[in-house]
Amino acid sequence: MFDSITGSIKNAVNKIRHKDDVASLKKAITELKKSLLKADVHHKTTKDLITAIELETKRLGIGQDSFLKALRNELSNVLTTQGNQGFVFSSTPPTTILMTGLQGSGKTTTTGKLANYLKLRKKKVLVAAADLQRLAAVEQLKQIAAQVEVDIYYDDNEKDPIKIALAAKEKATKELYDVLLIDTAGRLAIDEELMLQLENVRNAVSPDEIFYVADSLTGHDATKTATTFKEKIGIDGVILSKYDGDTKGGVAISIAHQVGVPLRFIGIGEKMPDLEVFIPDRIVSRLMG
Ligand code: GDP
Repeated sequence: MFDSITGSIKNAVNKIRHKDDVASLKKAITELKKSLLKADVHHKTTKDLITAIELETKRLGIGQDSFLKALRNELSNVLTTQGNQGFVFSSTPPTTILMTGLQGSGKTTTTGKLANYLKLRKKKVLVAAADLQRLAAVEQLKQIAAQVEVDIYYDDNEKDPIKIALAAKEKATKELYDVLLIDTAGRLAIDEELMLQLENVRNAVSPDEIFYVADSLTGHDATKTATTFKEKIGIDGVILSKYDGDTKGGVAISIAHQVGVPLRFIGIGEKMPDLEVFIPDRIVSRLMG
């Protein structure tokens, strides 16, 4: 999957020729640094990672095995944030989730995937079509809801996303839904109006969690926008979409390290079942080949 980073990790390991050879460790670290940067790992993250890996390899005794062990441990440390645990249910249903993200990130599809994930776990799920920004978004969510057989709240005559979100919450509460997933407006880029609208929806429905859907294929931009969403509206989890198309692999590491919000799920295809709980060690194994 991440052929290039996996290959260059192997190259880095092969630089270590003899036990306790400090000069060859330096070469391995330089090679590793290059490959992390090429894989779109943020430069600060890369710096922290290689410093920790060099120290840990020395502590374990320089050699190929200890370099690999240090690399595996440090990657795992970076990717493991408190709260990596998939979906968390509120003690007072409906667990209300705001789905946020830029247009095209996969937000509406991911809302359907999460609904499907929860439905398979016997939860009563309501999705709400509060993305009124993109013309086709409501229709798309209707189709997805029908496909995964969950209920949907929408109002073709209502132009105010706050009213839609509130009405959906009222329905979900009255009709004892376990989970309410609210699909909110996306934009091509972050703008003040979008943030204000999101803030207002958030304040109106007091969600249990806000998920940010980040498109893996946008590399460093995914980290930047996730940071902005975190600062402006607060996010509780990141879902990395289109991970199946990501050949570099660095974005998960950068988001975990730079944004400081747990990665919760990854999207691994266009179909509804293509959603996995984010498991740090599984990602490390994929990166290391
Ligand atoms: P939105 O504007 O953020 O709501 O984006 P959409 O949900 O409409 O998704 C945009 C495109 O990305 C669609 O063609 C989706 O099928 C595709 N997509 C979403 N998630 C994934 C994923 O995990 N993998 C792949 N390969 N495609 C995805």
